[in-house]
Amino acid sequence: MKASQLLLTVDLRAAGESMHAFATELYPTCRSITGDGLRTTLKRIGRQIPLEIQEVATGTTVFDWSVPREWNIRDAWIKNSRGEKVVDFQKSNLHVVQYSVPVQRRISLDELKTHLYSLPDRPDWIPYRTSYYQETWGFCLTHRQLEKLEPGEYEVKIDSTLAEGSLSYGEHFLRGRTADEVLLSCHVCHPSLANDNLSGVALSVKLAEILGGCSLKYSYRFLFIPGTIGSITWLARNSERARQIQHGLVVTCVGDSGGLHYKRSRRGDAEIDRAVIKALRDRRQPLEVRDFSPYGYDERQYCSPGFNLPVGSLTRSPHGTFAQYHTSADNLDFIRPEALSDSLAAYLAVISVLEGNSRYQNLNPWCEPQLGRRGLYRALGGFADAGQMELAFLWVLNLSDATHSLLDIAERADLPFELIEQAAETLVAHGLLEERLV
Ligand code: ZN
Repeated sequence: MKASQLLLTVDLRAAGESMHAFATELYPTCRSITGDGLRTTLKRIGRQIPLEIQEVATGTTVFDWSVPREWNIRDAWIKNSRGEKVVDFQKSNLHVVQYSVPVQRRISLDELKTHLYSLPDRPDWIPYRTSYYQETWGFCLTHRQLEKLEPGEYEVKIDSTLAEGSLSYGEHFLRGRTADEVLLSCHVCHPSLANDNLSGVALSVKLAEILGGCSLKYSYRFLFIPGTIGSITWLARNSERARQIQHGLVVTCVGDSGGLHYKRSRRGDAEIDRAVIKALRDRRQPLEVRDFSPYGYDERQYCSPGFNLPVGSLTRSPHGTFAQYHTSADNLDFIRPEALSDSLAAYLAVISVLEGNSRYQNLNPWCEPQLGRRGLYRALGGFADAGQMELAFLWVLNLSDATHSLLDIAERADLPFELIEQAAETLVAHGLLEERLV
């Protein structure tokens, strides 16, 4: 099957349900940038699609960084003077500040409060906090829980280990007809957070499954990595291979009911930037486009000046702009099957444009060929809009001088990419056009 037929063949509704079910399965696991929760998640992804899991030892130098110690947690709680658990890690893995060092001691309320984090504005939500690079410990709780704490002595316990180990990440590779690659990267390091983390994981897995059944021009590399340190580690170990990346997207926050947003690559006008905009405008999917900024997810690393890869990010509500961001309210109700399937459709549409965007040579460039004689003029049957198709023929013939791509033509003609692609295929079939393989 060709990638351009993807949208016609995928059952989007069923895909939305299955992505939500996959996120639901992964939701309870306490993931972090290293450790067993991350490994369990990668293994689960590996049951869905072939996944090469890499382990990079603690202390490995990756550019200006080094792979941190591995963090694992088994249990944590705060007990009041009556021995009642007032905060319990078993009820929510967001209750512990990630990378908390082990602790077990008695503590006064005043001192305890210096280790507690809540959201006074959202008194029923638990915040998500991390302290990867500063040794400390802490608990996150709802503001209501915090306000209920009575003066007195408390016992705190965090049964964690921070020790030499490794950082894990997973890679799934689909070989296409060319060695040129499309990168799809998602972070997989957040604990029970649905939109910021699991929605991107579920969509990437689904996309890999779908593309696995297609005949592809590009090779596709899917990365399931811990945020920031994972992409830095991958780039440090693959700086040569990274040159193969022709187009890329960071996949995250694709499950909420907000509208689609595209953050351009640092280059700003890379083919991926244009393909996303054209594909979604053609589908009349509302899209807000933002310029690159060195803040957000792993596009910061892919677009660092040494690499400057053409990698953008297609999301629904962007990073940090929704109230539920990095709180317990980013849960399985916050992501919806319909939103996941709408995002999947957007990704498939973009991939269809990338896959179909070739350059052609007009084999009859001295004045227009006679379309009528070939049955390509007016009397066209089988095309939804014969007038539009005729216009598409003329544009493709005129601009197919081996330098303009079909995307160039579709943008300039202001016609749907699919129509331009269909026109090119028809002209090839009539011997008027030839694909130029660069
Ligand atoms: Zn996050």
